[in-house]
Amino acid sequence: MPRLRLLPSVRPSLMLAGTLLASAALASTLGAQPPAARDTAPTTSPLPTGRVTYRTLVEVNLEMEQLAARHPDRVRRFALPHKTVLGQTVWALEVARNVAVPDGRPAFLMTGLHHSREWPTVDLTMEFVHDILMNDGKDARITALLDNVRFLVVPVVNPDGYELSRSLLNEQKRKSCRITAGAPATFAECANPRNRNAGVDLNRNYGAFWGGIGANLGVMEGSYRGPAPFSEPEIQNMRDLMNAHQVVVALSNHTPDAKVLRAPSSPDEPVPADAAAYDALGKAVGADLKWEAGPWTEIYYAASGTMEEYAYYSAGTFAYTFENTPGQRSFHPAYSFVVDQYFGTGAYPGSNARAGFLRLYEAAANAALHSVLEVRAPAGATLTLTKSFTLESAPVLQADSSRTPAIAIPITLTSSLTVPAGRDRVTWHVNPSLRPSQKSSEHLRESWTVTCARNGATQRAQVTVARGERAAVDLSACR
Ligand SMILES: [Zn+2]
Repeated sequence: MPRLRLLPSVRPSLMLAGTLLASAALASTLGAQPPAARDTAPTTSPLPTGRVTYRTLVEVNLEMEQLAARHPDRVRRFALPHKTVLGQTVWALEVARNVAVPDGRPAFLMTGLHHSREWPTVDLTMEFVHDILMNDGKDARITALLDNVRFLVVPVVNPDGYELSRSLLNEQKRKSCRITAGAPATFAECANPRNRNAGVDLNRNYGAFWGGIGANLGVMEGSYRGPAPFSEPEIQNMRDLMNAHQVVVALSNHTPDAKVLRAPSSPDEPVPADAAAYDALGKAVGADLKWEAGPWTEIYYAASGTMEEYAYYSAGTFAYTFENTPGQRSFHPAYSFVVDQYFGTGAYPGSNARAGFLRLYEAAANAALHSVLEVRAPAGATLTLTKSFTLESAPVLQADSSRTPAIAIPITLTSSLTVPAGRDRVTWHVNPSLRPSQKSSEHLRESWTVTCARNGATQRAQVTVARGERAAVDLSACR
């Protein structure tokens, strides 16, 4: 019998409103778990934290706060800018040596829990964060990653949905707590059985190719795309996070289908301009996990409005999906399968998620896979890298199968850093200025604008740089 728990992260006002929560609290008070199960359950695991149960949302959020407090030099916790449909804060971590100082290191982004019931994605992500912090200074490879890469982590993209599923109020929930387009909702409304199939599929709400084949149009359907590209605050968070950092490699964790996926995810996309290098990294990771690796459209199913599409077509980010903990007929099998998946042991011999995570993290440090700017500028100057362009949705599929014209989505990418004291140049690891075309297997010849500001003086330069290239930028007159 599954054990019901009261989630303390639910605000008291919402708890009072939810009779379902009250009965969950009662079951917990009465001790729903039989003593025999407690006697035989393992009390520790080989995971970095030794955990043996899935984290609750309140545990994840508390743990993130504690990690930042305990390791202020290496862990920064920050709130993403948009509150969820239920009004919750979505937290992110940044992990790097001297994390407080913005600098020119490339970023690797890892996410968990777009889909509410895919609990292993939270624990795999959190255990990996503990793992690298524990092995920094002991394992040379991990030490170098802390030195060379800024690691961005969003363990729970969809906290509303996680709470509903993890509390077992709606265990098989997939989507968000959006019930009415554009309107907030309460926990009680989201938990109401009448709304159990409502919500937006957050991995169909990203802007690039939104509205194409591989998403549903109805709010009660499993892969509902939402009313517009980036309509949902949870995905506005992901867009804004990616737009503000040089995320050169990204991983979106899901369960449970044993695949490493990359763009194209929908049939409206061309073969990506960077197909060879993008595919090769995916295949290498596929070997770490003993899973098939390739585009969604060839090895899985069609999906439009996915994280990979936005990451790749906005910035050229090499973005992937892992389909973790396969073969158990569950989106969140018994916790031992999370342990086995993390190490490639037991039920998953040689299918090592940790190795896959490390390979992608390390790929972020590989300058052959992104671009490098060597910028001359005076110490103390603020450097800003910007680029504005128009991204397109897919021609928008309508209920009668006709299509209306693609929606133009204005995008601005902006990242910045400060030239350190005593230095007159910085090395800035960035995404290529050339952007992959959404129409053909070519790059659009766009440029970055680099702006230097110091003591009221500014200087600007345009730089055009391809993947694997280095470019010099002289802003030394900004003083
Ligand atoms: Zn999923």
